[in-house]
Amino acid sequence: MTIQEKIPGSAPQLTPVDYSVKFGEFIGIGPNGNLFVDGCDVQVLAEKFGTPLYIISENQLRHTYRAFRDAFRRHYPEVEILFANKSNNGLAIRHIMNQEGAGGDCFGAQEMYMALLAGTNARTLVLNGSNKQDEELEMAIANGLCINIDAMDELDRIVEIAERLDREVDIGIRLKLDLEPLRARTGVAMHGPGTLKQQSDSTKWGMTREQTVEIVKRALGMPHIKLKETHFHLSRMSNDPNDFAVMAGEMLTWSGYLRDNAGWTPPCIDIGGGWTFGKWYGTGPNSQLDDAKAPTAEDYARLCSAAIKEEAARLGLPLPKLRLEPGRALSGPAGVAAGRVGAVKVGASKKWVNLDLSTNHLSWAAVLDWYYHAVPVKNAGAEASEVVDLVGPLCNSDEVGSHRKMPLLKRGDFVAFLDAGGYTESSAARYNAQLLPATVLVSGTQAEIITEREQMKDVAGRFRVPPRLLASSFTPKP
Ligand SMILES: *Cc1c(COP(=O)(O)O)cnc(C)c1O
Repeated sequence: MTIQEKIPGSAPQLTPVDYSVKFGEFIGIGPNGNLFVDGCDVQVLAEKFGTPLYIISENQLRHTYRAFRDAFRRHYPEVEILFANKSNNGLAIRHIMNQEGAGGDCFGAQEMYMALLAGTNARTLVLNGSNKQDEELEMAIANGLCINIDAMDELDRIVEIAERLDREVDIGIRLKLDLEPLRARTGVAMHGPGTLKQQSDSTKWGMTREQTVEIVKRALGMPHIKLKETHFHLSRMSNDPNDFAVMAGEMLTWSGYLRDNAGWTPPCIDIGGGWTFGKWYGTGPNSQLDDAKAPTAEDYARLCSAAIKEEAARLGLPLPKLRLEPGRALSGPAGVAAGRVGAVKVGASKKWVNLDLSTNHLSWAAVLDWYYHAVPVKNAGAEASEVVDLVGPLCNSDEVGSHRKMPLLKRGDFVAFLDAGGYTESSAARYNAQLLPATVLVSGTQAEIITEREQMKDVAGRFRVPPRLLASSFTPKP
């Protein structure tokens, strides 16, 4: 039990809402037929706060977190959940995660700063990154985060700072697992084409066995360094939990290798993120991969725990503490993104429904062919009557949802994309000088702004004109 979990009242009891159609425990079709997030009508939220708008359900986030945590705790003795902060960096989101007792995975100085600003217990935070800057390492060391080493010169750089500050540092090592059993497995092409092993091998992440042994041997002799964990992140390469189980088991294989070759057995393994979630209406990569058949946290927990225990028994290793870094699986289902219909255009073979929401706001729709299920906000259960392309206003094709079966939509209607709580605001872009949207946090019937909508000053105010260019642009040449 972490410190936060002992604070009475900080993590409220949750009672799922009884919707006529459920898109989640706290998102569904409400009594008037409109889309609801918890106790709030999305039509009312969109009118009040404007669009494009991200809406996060606090209770859905808490509920999803608890379900994920409890699934792993049912199957494994010691489990810590570290929310991947990058999936949604909102300070309010981090506060909710703190209250739930979640740790966090930070990437870069700013994410670490935000987590610390939100009061997250630094002992529950890890810093990941392939190219950590000096100021980043110093911030982590000064505040007591665990640093996952991912470069050969990182240990010396950490030691130099730790000695100067006279601080002890927890370190982990990010591994480049062999993943031999995944040599022929294909999955979701997140890192280019190829098998899961090829995709994993092709990324910049992780240290080889020999490099890991060298780091461990050196670290064991260093007074300021405490070896804490090994780390791996399979990423969103598969939605087959057996692939994750292979990965989890191999973490123990490496533990045995380190015991035998470097004299250290990792007391903790951190198996990263990439955990999927499915919805009956479909969501996820390559158009629509994760439906009702997608693995649940329970499936992942059962298979990964079994693989870890089996390999530990085979090698005579004690069971390490297990850390996981789910991002999307927790933040994704907690949010929707709402946009307003503008121009509706009928072509020879197609109909386009323009929204003020764009691939700037659902960037994975463009980059990863990610499917976000779209529903009309008003009369959300209305029978679909036509197939349309839902597009944004950007100067590219800007398809946020192509070939969607929708009821008749007209200017002024709102459309919501479900399961858009992760990697939307945190990877939103300003292309075409668009303003970044606001986010509201819903809890019951309360709705509060947690991210302000950008204003023109935020876009224009960053630019500078060198003085030598000023007059000549306005004064006519003689
Ligand atoms: C991105 C990332 C995660 C979270 O990934 P999800 O797919 O959102 O679960 C976890 N750990 C590390 C190191 C990451 O880079």
